Amino acid sequence: MLRIRRIYDNVLPVNKSTLNQVQEILRSRFSGVAEEEIALIGEKLRNPFKQRFRTILFVAESIKSKVRGFAMLLHEPELHFAYLDWIATASNRAGGGIGGALYDRIRREATALNVAGLFFECLPDDADDCQDPAELKLNRSRLRFYERYGARPIVDTDYESPVKPGDTCMPHLVYDDLGSSQPLKKAYARQVVRAVLERKYAAYCPADYVERVVQSFKEDPIHLRAFRYIKPEAVVAKVESRSAEQIALIVNDRHDIHHVNERGYVESPVRVKSILKVIEPSGLFAVIKPRPFPDKHLHAVHDEDFVSYLKRACAEVPAGKSLYPYIFPIRNKTRPPKEPSVLSGYYCIDTFTPINANAYLAARRSVDCALTAAREILDGRRIAYALIRPPGHHAERRSFGGFCYFNNNAIAAQYLCAHGKVAILDVDYHHGNGGQDIFYRRSDVLAVSIHGHPRFAYPYFCGFEEERGEGEGEGFNLNIPLPEAVDGVKYRKSLARALRRIEEFQPQFLIVGLGLDPAKGDPTGSWSLTMKDFAENGRMIGALGLPLVVIQEGGYRTQTLGKNVLAFFRGVAEGVAQWADSRHEHHHRVHGVTFRDTIVPEDGPRVRRLVDITGFFNPEEVDVAEELVGEYLAKGDASGYHFFMADHYGRLAGYVCFGLIPGTASSYDLYWIAVHPDFQSRGLGRRLLVEAERRIKAAGGSRIYVDTSQRVQYASTRAFYESCGYRLETVLKDFYTVGDGKAIYCKSLI
Ligand SMILES: [Zn+2]
Repeated sequence: MLRIRRIYDNVLPVNKSTLNQVQEILRSRFSGVAEEEIALIGEKLRNPFKQRFRTILFVAESIKSKVRGFAMLLHEPELHFAYLDWIATASNRAGGGIGGALYDRIRREATALNVAGLFFECLPDDADDCQDPAELKLNRSRLRFYERYGARPIVDTDYESPVKPGDTCMPHLVYDDLGSSQPLKKAYARQVVRAVLERKYAAYCPADYVERVVQSFKEDPIHLRAFRYIKPEAVVAKVESRSAEQIALIVNDRHDIHHVNERGYVESPVRVKSILKVIEPSGLFAVIKPRPFPDKHLHAVHDEDFVSYLKRACAEVPAGKSLYPYIFPIRNKTRPPKEPSVLSGYYCIDTFTPINANAYLAARRSVDCALTAAREILDGRRIAYALIRPPGHHAERRSFGGFCYFNNNAIAAQYLCAHGKVAILDVDYHHGNGGQDIFYRRSDVLAVSIHGHPRFAYPYFCGFEEERGEGEGEGFNLNIPLPEAVDGVKYRKSLARALRRIEEFQPQFLIVGLGLDPAKGDPTGSWSLTMKDFAENGRMIGALGLPLVVIQEGGYRTQTLGKNVLAFFRGVAEGVAQWADSRHEHHHRVHGVTFRDTIVPEDGPRVRRLVDITGFFNPEEVDVAEELVGEYLAKGDASGYHFFMADHYGRLAGYVCFGLIPGTASSYDLYWIAVHPDFQSRGLGRRLLVEAERRIKAAGGSRIYVDTSQRVQYASTRAFYESCGYRLETVLKDFYTVGDGKAIYCKSLI
């Protein structure tokens, strides 16, 4: 059994171990790779644009998490191409199709990224170019493999020409059109080749070599080598449709022992059965067995005496009997009573949630399921669903109620928050009072609940908007109480507000308490959400792109439970796919950014810090950036400089500085544009530039000039200007230093 998993970061412990294995494979299989480059892989994943490419890593691993192979793809979002940097298996005679499975996955990813082509290097398969017979044999089998996809070396160019005398065995540049059958256009190929040589081989290829190779791409379209190993009609070029990773489904296998037969107890075993019946055949889910977890996870969010009380009290009730609380300690909580039926009220918030022999066992198993779901996420899966009952979101630190005993989603949140910040989004019709109570004084877990207003809905005594958290936790509890009549449209407005707050919080994980009682016709609710609304809610949640644990809470209209769950998860999957695509678009939303054109004295050091952290500028340039702010503060508009600043919660996220070029009628110079690395490739630079252009035009400006270096590090800067409509006007050769010219771009505003 082999699974292919995308590694998003090197933060989770499981990913750290995976990365170590990937690095080991690189060392053992590619002796020529520098240790610094191997060490950089983790950094590239965390900060993917650091190397001016987005790094995407896939590993093929056995069920025991042993890495059998990996592939690393570089994505260039400005020029729309993908470059396969590495594809390697752990052993030489791996077989088993690991390389094939990885290459298929890479093609699907490249297609999903909407690139025009996939490029990579492959060592030569001609005896003249490769003297080592064993190596030659390997190269031939590789090129034969790629030919099956229609991918072949680019020919009739100087790409294979030696960089230094004595260079042998120069690789081919191979092009895979990803099944589009589009010819490779010269202009595009030249941009790609330049980007690859300048960025990947900066240390090895001198500028004149790069220039010569780029210019050698003369044919239009570019020629690919004729098929050598297979017949063209045997090509399997089509990219399989993207098969999204399955959602882990963890079902409480002991839920049905908890069956309260009293009339009106709607929290019944049929709920889980009716959901399973609909979602199991969908193919969307992979069933994972619940694993046992120790009691310490319960104690991490619940009082120990409450946990032991529930265990003991449930065990003491005779089989088939239920104990209902009926009297509650609102006057004196310091003296727990002895009589069992009275004591139950000491730990409970209502009169309809019974203590009985099986309640504890079923609730304890629900906890295991929630933790198993969280564990799946730590193991690298993106979405896990704990389909459980009894539910948990009304259980507080030291009390049960509302059909709930232990707070499953709080326990999962506590478990995950050892690895990063967690947001809980409770979308049950009833307020998530348990999560609120447990995390009320904490800022590492954000609790958000959208629910029926407590003036008419259970639990009646909390869920008000003004309950915002206390102390350290102030502002980290958000209640959105809604009126009695709510439809899908109205609901989504509140959901959008909740999701904005979650995005601002920037959690590592999201837990959704999935209540289905907002549905039309639910016996415990008053709203009218339809299947389509659940799909749309799921899509909005999925589009956050956060690792997601969904935990079943309420929802009692059995006829529609299954359909609504399935619609919700289909929506989530769609949202995740949208998120994956939109990450590569320029207009990616950045929440919480505000703009201004006023300058304050603190902006001097803030600009310095920002310019410095981008890593693009030398110390003198950093000084100049700060000085310009000082000039403006001293002289105002007479300084000739104008600023436009972007702030994100008190931090400078980016800025632009421009001014009229002295001695010209209406030509402007763009002096500075800088964006904090956290906001790069999210459209902020473009936004700043557009705003500067608007202001320049309003001031009567006709042309904007911007100059930049020809150095490799500036390749993406140049691509950025080009994509914003700037044309390369001229290059002053060797301007900064020998081999580093000044490139001057211009955009006309008329
Ligand atoms: Zn509910």
